[in-house]
Amino acid sequence: MTISKHVALARSVEGRTISAHVFSRRARGGLTVVILGGFHGDEPKSVTVVRRLAELLGESPELRGSTRWVIAPLINPDGYSRRRRRNARNVDINRNFPTDDWTQTSRRSRMYGGPKAASEPETRAVMKIIERYQPARIVTVHSIGLGRFCNNFDGPGKRLAAAMRRRNGYPVAGSIGYPTPGSFGNWAGYELHIPTITLELPSLDSAKRCWEDNREALLRVGGT
Ligand SMILES: [Zn+2]
Repeated sequence: MTISKHVALARSVEGRTISAHVFSRRARGGLTVVILGGFHGDEPKSVTVVRRLAELLGESPELRGSTRWVIAPLINPDGYSRRRRRNARNVDINRNFPTDDWTQTSRRSRMYGGPKAASEPETRAVMKIIERYQPARIVTVHSIGLGRFCNNFDGPGKRLAAAMRRRNGYPVAGSIGYPTPGSFGNWAGYELHIPTITLELPSLDSAKRCWEDNREALLRVGGT
């Protein structure tokens, strides 16, 4: 017996709902995984791919296994409505987490981390998901240009990144190549010690292609 729920978790700065699909079994003991998309509003393929995963698991309960899946396709709905990276207050959600390395940066920076750590409702929505569901694995989906697509891991996520590489063919990367203070990966991977993958989709490929490349890799995240 499996249960499907659509849970409203929080509201964005402009009042849009941030929600998650939760697919769970009544039996205890399964793994919990969290899959997130749409941190950056100008990366719409990340939203499409995570939505497709939720649709697939909704239609095909047998693919869920004994795993509890918590899937939130759109963390930054205000940015997405404008196709803009940051939220309605011009904060980069992926630099706003309360990590030891959070730093004040220029408001004009594309990666402005906010007036203080966890100042934004979108950031707190993600923290609520992690605190409520206590996942064993997390994948956060983004997109990136110029052939830099990868399975980027933070914290104890190397084995999971390698398992995903076998399905999507993207390289495993331990660092994205520049420091990311206040990022979700630093918070969840290094500070909470949860295996955390930042799946960087190739932004030049179509959403359809991104989904086809990653369908099995994402299903693998819920496997044992
Ligand atoms: Zn991004």
